[in-house]
Amino acid sequence: MESATHAGLVRHDLLIDGKRIAPSGGDYSVDLNPATEAPIALVAQGTAADVDVAVQAARAALKVWNGMRAAERGRILGRMAELLREHQDEIAALESLDAGKPIAAVMRQDVPAAIDTLAYYAGWCDKINGQVVPVRPDALTYTVREPVGVVGAIVPWNFPLMIGMWKIAPALACGCTLVVKPAEITPLSALRIGELALEAGVPPGVLNIVTGKGKVVGDALVAHPGVDKVTFTGSPSVGRGILQGAAGNFKRVTLELGGKSANVIFADANLDQAVRAAASGIFFNTGQVCSAGSRILAHRDVYDDVVERLAARAKAIRVGDPSGRDTSMGPLVSAAQMKTVLDYVAIGRDEGAALVTGGRRIGERGFYVEPTVFANVEHEMRISQEEIFGPVASVIRFEDEEDAVRIANGTLYSLAAGVWSADIGRVHRMARELRAGTVWINTYGYTDVRLPWGGSGDSGFGREHADVAIENFTEPKAVWLSLAQ
Ligand code: NAD
Repeated sequence: MESATHAGLVRHDLLIDGKRIAPSGGDYSVDLNPATEAPIALVAQGTAADVDVAVQAARAALKVWNGMRAAERGRILGRMAELLREHQDEIAALESLDAGKPIAAVMRQDVPAAIDTLAYYAGWCDKINGQVVPVRPDALTYTVREPVGVVGAIVPWNFPLMIGMWKIAPALACGCTLVVKPAEITPLSALRIGELALEAGVPPGVLNIVTGKGKVVGDALVAHPGVDKVTFTGSPSVGRGILQGAAGNFKRVTLELGGKSANVIFADANLDQAVRAAASGIFFNTGQVCSAGSRILAHRDVYDDVVERLAARAKAIRVGDPSGRDTSMGPLVSAAQMKTVLDYVAIGRDEGAALVTGGRRIGERGFYVEPTVFANVEHEMRISQEEIFGPVASVIRFEDEEDAVRIANGTLYSLAAGVWSADIGRVHRMARELRAGTVWINTYGYTDVRLPWGGSGDSGFGREHADVAIENFTEPKAVWLSLAQ
């Protein structure tokens, strides 16, 4: 909470119905820079009452947003994408500061992906068609797709801007209005996006941003009878609670949860490329990636080679100040996340895995942990089964294709997987056998708004991106018109 020592920090209020307003409880939390632990801003702690006001604003705005011509909505979203491009340096700096993400990576990935997502869905606005369906000669029967209504979007801290936009852009394109709850510790980019949306011509009340605690703002949003759909990205445990909370008025729910993705390297793979991609697959964004290739499965003939090369790459990673242009890995996002990661390092050692490199905190300020590689990891160990969400690779030995599939599919998750081999039959067999929403062959980690994204099991359900998201944010309606004389 705010104290006298935080005087002088910028206060970030809620964004509701086009206006920045103070939270009804009057409380602000202190937002920290994960790289230095220094306070960077004061952020409004929204309340259930604030959520109620935001939902009412969003309900009222539905008529306005849907009353527009579809092409006009598309033009506004296009303008919003342009504004994001014009402000990309500012937004990237904000995201890097708030989440501890290396600025170079934010400029290369997060910001372009957010702009691309907006531009892509801007193009969808006037293409959300129904169909005329032939049923009987004396009736005209057709379908239309209507917006689901008010969307509650709950966003995690690992890609606040990009994942936020994966929800905001398709919902807006479909004519929905939103109340967005950014993660408590990374709210700044969402608030700025909300302002740019207004500047682009998105009417007040269409995109509301309510910052604050998951248990307060998130719970209130999920339980609110005026919310028609919840789209959530985060942990399985919170996802389970959301599913239960949303049952009250049978909200539609999409859950993008965690992962423990396998990156499978066969002996005939190009080892140089495979290990390079495996290293970035686990160390990119300090391992705080739902699709991180946290389990590296290496065939026994190349196992030692893979471990050695991976450790060498881990040691060579430039960990440091996220604002440095040549920094490739920043800190973890919070003290809590750092503790989780260090606890898992201890668990891995206790379980008998071999710590090849890393495993320690770096320095005493900022939430930095060394890129870490565990070898001799057994499939049943906790570090092989549980999501760590940090820069910790578990390298697991396998015997043959069947063994690789058994291990790869042997967790509760099923978000993504990678396969490395020169055998064209094998990679296709693996793509078929792997239980995952995305399979990468001789590459790892790409996402694109044009392809569906999501998983099943503890990785959640439903997909984001592409035309699937259009289905997520619309309800089909069947219309019968009698032609009888
Ligand atoms: P989290 O579940 O703790 O938080 C996610 C969001 O939910 C935050 O905004 C948080 O404030 C909110 N929240 C917390 N408690 C809530 C409650 N009771 N009701 C409603 N909302 C609540 O997860 P996190 O720590 O922010 O993110 C890490 C997790 O997210 C990891 O498990 C990761 O794998 C997953 N993730 C998945 C994807 C994907 O696309 N599948 C992408 C990114 C992250």
